[in-house]
Amino acid sequence: MSEKSSFEFQADVKELLNLVTHSLYSNREIFLRELISNASDAIDKIRFEALTKPELLEEKSQEYKISIIPNAEAKTLTITDNGCGMDEQELREHLGTIARSGTKTFLQQLKGTQELSSMDFIGQFGVGFYSAFIVSDRVVVKTRKAQTRGCQWASQGQGNFEIEPTGKFARGTEVILYLKEDALNFLEEFTLRGVVKKYSDFIEHPIALVTKKDGKETEEVLNSRKAIWLKSPSEIEAKEYHEFYKHLSHDFQDPLRVIHYRGEGTLEFKALIYISAHAPLDLYSPEFNSGLQLYINRVFIMEDCKKLIPPYLRFLKGVVDCGDLTLNVSREMIQEDPRLEKIKKNLVRKVLGNLAEWMEQNRKEYEQFYAQFGKVLKEGLHFDSEQRDKIADLLLFETTQTETGQYKSLKQYLEGMKPTQKEIYYLIAENRTKALATPQLEAFKAKEVEVLLMMDPVDQWVMGSLTNYQEKPIKSISHEAIDLHTEEEKKSVEENLKEQGKKYKDLLKAIGEKLEAQVKEVRFSPRLTDSVCCLVAETGTLTPQMEQMLKSLGQAVPVQKKILEINPNHPLLEVLQRLYESDHTSAQFADYVQLLLDQALLTEGAELTNPKGLSKRISDLMVRAATTPGNL
Ligand code: ADP
Ligand code: MG
Repeated sequence: MSEKSSFEFQADVKELLNLVTHSLYSNREIFLRELISNASDAIDKIRFEALTKPELLEEKSQEYKISIIPNAEAKTLTITDNGCGMDEQELREHLGTIARSGTKTFLQQLKGTQELSSMDFIGQFGVGFYSAFIVSDRVVVKTRKAQTRGCQWASQGQGNFEIEPTGKFARGTEVILYLKEDALNFLEEFTLRGVVKKYSDFIEHPIALVTKKDGKETEEVLNSRKAIWLKSPSEIEAKEYHEFYKHLSHDFQDPLRVIHYRGEGTLEFKALIYISAHAPLDLYSPEFNSGLQLYINRVFIMEDCKKLIPPYLRFLKGVVDCGDLTLNVSREMIQEDPRLEKIKKNLVRKVLGNLAEWMEQNRKEYEQFYAQFGKVLKEGLHFDSEQRDKIADLLLFETTQTETGQYKSLKQYLEGMKPTQKEIYYLIAENRTKALATPQLEAFKAKEVEVLLMMDPVDQWVMGSLTNYQEKPIKSISHEAIDLHTEEEKKSVEENLKEQGKKYKDLLKAIGEKLEAQVKEVRFSPRLTDSVCCLVAETGTLTPQMEQMLKSLGQAVPVQKKILEINPNHPLLEVLQRLYESDHTSAQFADYVQLLLDQALLTEGAELTNPKGLSKRISDLMVRAATTPGNL
């Protein structure tokens, strides 16, 4: 390329730019944090690459440095670094598209909503380089990557940008901001000093403020450059922890919890870990950038090192610095280092222990955390059998005996159990209303036995991994025929079942035949007290809720016939019996039988295969009932 070419921003970028310039006004100083963080990243990058390719440095001795240069006459603020720079293609890609998946998700969610000014929301994603346009009418980026020639990017932050070659230029990047008239305060030294101190004090490379005094250039390093994770926790103020968190996460809100410790033993490392106050929107997306930053003796190695934490702790953000790891190898090789696995084990133990403490000491705050990340933590039941019991201790559930939004741990559930209760029961449901309307609950209500309500979609598969807690079996009441009766009651219930079974033997058989294609079996049930019937799945098959979920994900669900359980003492049985006796081949009997099954399907929230049929049967029934003499 020898001359100027013009490019359009990707559509997403245009939207983001619009958003940035219109909604970040009250927080516009963050542009400096973003540009300094990019400069620092670029230095980390070249420093790491030069370990194996020293020729990239081009010069022998080099002090890595970031400079901030205000120019009052030109009304420009320039931020330079001697980092990795960019070649033309990188320039076009990195400053013309949105790479971060979170930002994309965010934009999609934002479409059609009126949240345009919601700071917290935007803060979750970080706007990065584009934040330069909060304070600038025009931005010019001059850059040169080692062993390539320099090029220049320029834009007014509207639809397009231009790229052209530049002349001789040292390796690195120079970002020149042509400040807006109302942003000229960012030329003032004390403003710049304050902003750097506030957001970027811990940046490892020197950030120099370069000014001219009486024609002479002076440089003043603004940041203390202390890697915060290396300090002792007693020396660090909450404010410092929070600023570093914001730098790491691009979040505008303070974190909910800080875990800072030194791992000891065969391997020494420092870890500074944060838990955000809110879950990012892309937490469940496969592209979610989970992991912690990895440093080796203060040298930044990589962002999002996935080897350091298991996916069920992907909500953690932070830094791990381990001096024992070997620096002079490729990033891939570092990731293969078996010692990372050891660090991970230590981190998992520490974090789970810390969560347990938190739950004990500040339940209210813990619940706030749990509401955001409990669903993710639960995945650990399935994936980490070694820590299963510890994770189980950390879980919270609504139950049939709590109010909406009140939670009990499994331990609390055990404490509330009657001595006669030998098992822990749970019910999977879509929401509380549906849960409480489940016929299977009736017997539990009658006996005042508490049932855990599982209403997170993940519950369906993770709870299968948790078969007992403190030696008490855990059972799903939608799967298993659970008998809550005492020995004596059992006798009379069995007798009753037998008696009714005998009395309605033919009826039951006829119902079974009519519904043969739709259910596996029809039988009397000891567990219904109010409802006339319900459907039950056999142990080891999918619950109705699970089926619903798979269907909603577009998955093929194997057809599994269920068992229709009927309450042998419901008055409807007498009616059915009379219809059966008068003419079991009549259309009316067939309608009644079908209505029985439809009711069961409706109560479990399943989709009716023929809703029109149901509607017709009900209206026929209504007409018949109303036209029967003596009824109205
Ligand atoms: P992020 O830093 O999260 O990747 P940004 O929008 O801040 O997102 O920056 C986008 C990309 O532009 C960076 O990932 C990097 O590749 C490139 N970039 C930005 N500033 C610089 C710089 N000073 N030196 C080298 N590359 C840079
Ligand atoms: Mg950035």
